[in-house]
This record gives sequence, structure tokens and C-alpha cells, in this order.
Amino acid sequence: IEFMHFVLVATILPVVSMLGAQLGNIRQRLRRQRNELELALERIRELATRDHLTGLYNRRYMQERLTQQIRQMERSGGRFSLCLADLDHFKRINDTHGHGIGDQVLRQFADIAQICLRESDTLARWGGEEFLILLPDTGAGQAALSMERLRVAVADLCTLREIPGLTVTFSAGVTECRSGETAEQAVERADRALYRAKAEGRNRIVTD
Ligand code: GH3
Ligand code: MG
Ligand code: MG
Repeated sequence: IEFMHFVLVATILPVVSMLGAQLGNIRQRLRRQRNELELALERIRELATRDHLTGLYNRRYMQERLTQQIRQMERSGGRFSLCLADLDHFKRINDTHGHGIGDQVLRQFADIAQICLRESDTLARWGGEEFLILLPDTGAGQAALSMERLRVAVADLCTLREIPGLTVTFSAGVTECRSGETAEQAVERADRALYRAKAEGRNRIVTD
């Protein structure tokens, strides 16, 4: 019987230790795959919400953010403002210096705006050379002041080493969201104010 026990243990022990090693390998592989999946998910989230040229939030993300902000306003009051900013004569920059320089200008504008605006503000690339900014807990007057600061900063800082003397300006329409209206209605009003800013000579902020 002792001999049989010995044989049994001698055959089972290596099998058990082999299984243990295999289990360890499987666990390690699973951990690695989980890390890869988390990274992939993060990348997908990034691609779905960010604009690839400027790194800002994209239009889809901003639309969701707006809906959420309006819901919050309906639930618990509060206020927020919207600014629609559009680079002036941007087509001319492209036509004169090339699309690559145009892209660099867009990136510069985005960087300056991100530094200039408050952390609680949401800045998104709304279209080609149009940017939408959501300023929570801010009335139209305060939002216009914020945009005026950005206007001065862009006129000052938006320069390219390759094109000395290049001036970049933008126009913007500012509006405060009214209770009961949709996001589209508020954006339309900001767009109308932007149109007035263009018509009145550009490089200015107009409040609706
Ligand atoms: P305004 O002052 O009235 O806004 O004039 P504008 O020239 O800025 O406006 P317009 O709408 O005529 O031209 C916008 C240009 O922006 C046309 C389009 O080719 C360019 N554009 C859009 N997206 C991009 C982009 O991602 N990169 C570059 N380089 N140009 C772009
Ligand atoms: Mg435009
Ligand atoms: Mg423009």
C-alpha cells in the first residue's frame, strides 16, 4: 500500500505543479489582455469624442454636453452661455499660404483658447474653422468679457514662425441660454450674433 501511495504521489505531484504553472500563465495572459482592452477602449473613447486635428472635443461630444447642461438647468436652475467663434478670412490664409499653414493656425487657436478659457468651460471644434464654447454658471456679459480676453490673446499670440506678419483674428457671437429652449435654438441665436459680428467688420464679439 505504501508503495502504491508513493507511486500515486510521484505521478500526481508533477501533474499538479504543471497545472499550477499553466494556470499562472493563463492568469498573466488574461491580465495582459485586460490591460490591452482598457487601452483600446480609451483610444476608442478618444476617437469618438475628439477632433483629430486640434485635439479639442468634437461636435458630437459638444452636442451631448449641451443636452446635459440644458437638462441640468431645467432640473436645478442655474445659467450658462454659449459662444460661437469663427476665424476671420480663413479661406484667404489657406489660399495664400497653403492648407498646411491653415491647419497650424487652427491648432494654435485651439491651444491659446484652451489656456485662456476657464477649466470649467467646454471648448469644441464645431466645424471647419468654427468653435463652440460652453460657459457654465455664466451670464452673457461675463461670457462676452471672456471672449474679449480671448480675442486680444489670439490677435497677440497667434503667430507662425514660418509666416512673419501673419495676423489671425476671429469673430464671435455670444448668447445666454434661455429656459425652455433647445440646444439648437441657443446655438442658432449665437450664430445670428456671429453673423452680425462679421457684418459689422469682423474681429469683434457681438452679444445677442
Ligand atoms: P469669414 O471671415 O466670413 O468667416 O470668411 P472665411 O474665409 O473664414 O470663411 P469661409 O467659410 O469662406 O472659409 C472657410 C474655409 O475654411 C474654407 C475651408 O476650406 C477652410 N477649412 C475648413 N476646414 C479646414 C481644415 O481642417 N483645415 C484647413 N486648413 N482649412 C479648413
Ligand atoms: Mg465659417
Ligand atoms: Mg471664417
